[in-house]
Parts: sequence; C-alpha cells; structure tokens
Amino acid sequence: MATLKEQIETRVAEYDKWAIRRQYAADGPNMRRLWVLACMDERVPVDEALGIRADTPVGGGDAHLFRNAGGIVTDDAIRSAMLTINFFGTKEIIVLQHTGCGMLSANAADLEKALRGKGIDVDNIPIDSSLAELSLAQGAFAKWIGMMDDVDQTCMKCVELLKSHPLIPGDITISGWIWETEFRRLRAPTMDTEARARTQYSAASMGVSGSQPPRWI
Ligand SMILES: [Zn+2]
Repeated sequence: MATLKEQIETRVAEYDKWAIRRQYAADGPNMRRLWVLACMDERVPVDEALGIRADTPVGGGDAHLFRNAGGIVTDDAIRSAMLTINFFGTKEIIVLQHTGCGMLSANAADLEKALRGKGIDVDNIPIDSSLAELSLAQGAFAKWIGMMDDVDQTCMKCVELLKSHPLIPGDITISGWIWETEFRRLRAPTMDTEARARTQYSAASMGVSGSQPPRWI
C-alpha cells in the first residue's frame, strides 16, 4: 500500500493533467464523465450521498455539479446538461433530491401572493434579464417556482424529462435518487408509502395544504 506521502505526490502530479484537461473539452471530461443535478440545500452532502468527489481540483473532479432549489429540471439545468453532454464528454446524469426539501414546505400560490404583497409584478418578470426572448406566459409564475407536492414523484418526473429531451442524446445513462435527510441515507425514488413513512417526502407531510400548480404530475 502506498504511503500517504506517495498518494499526495500522485495527486499533486495529477493537478497538471487536470489543469490541461480543462482546455480540451470533449477530450478531457471530468473523471466520471458525470453531470449531477442536486438540490442546493446545505444538508445534502453530494459527495457523501453519491460516493464521489464532485469538484476537487487536485487529482481530478468526478463531476460537473449543478445545484438549484429542489434539484429540478429547469431551462438552465437543460442548458448546462446540454453543454457538458454534447461538448465535454459527459455520459451519465444523476438527479439528487431529498426529503424535508424546502421546495415541499410551502404552496407556490402562497409564495406568489407574498411576492405580490411586496409590490412585485410577477406577471412581468424578466426570467433572464440578458435574454428578453426567454419569457413566461401569463399566469405561469407560480409553476415556474417549481414547488413540489411529492419529492419522489418529482425526482422520477425530472429523470423522465431529461430522458425525453431533444438536447440529451438517448445513450446517456440517467438515474434519480433521494437523500433521506433524516437518516443520511440514499434510496431510489418510490411511491411506496411504507418505505417513506418516517421521512418528510411530501408537502402534506410538511403541513402544507392544497396542491401545487401542476408541473411534475
Ligand atoms: Zn431541497
């Protein structure tokens, strides 16, 4: 077995390879040819959950990591996935969502109401201020927020959306996973009530009444 000194020397030497690799796009993918879409919640330790080292520069990083509220498929997630898959050699996608997610903790209609209460005109929001062509249809704002009724259902839907998207080639391996925040444990998304019983997997389990504007069903 190599000494720690030798291991460190190897990792340091690999830094040069890593630095060069980044300049050559598809000829130099990340170590696992992997793109991860994960919730931004600080209670989701992506590396621990997936058994990878997503973004270490010394000795290579395993993945291109994209985080947003919920770890959901959005236009910018698609933009990033499209780039890494078509131009940076990525061959696999992991969607990582989690129980107790903030995106289960309120109804989008209430959030919209709260923003209106602050005087924000949610019917006329520049979704991307540098790209006026990207706009929301009237009444779509609450849907755009992306609040969830059920994290397992949403995770499965996000996998489906990626699999069927024209910018994602059919030979990409795509899977979705749920991090149980309560038990620091990873599981496959499921609709089995018993398997999910002790976790906060739905908006209802977090005390939210009513359903979200339909997006993930
Ligand atoms: Zn979350």
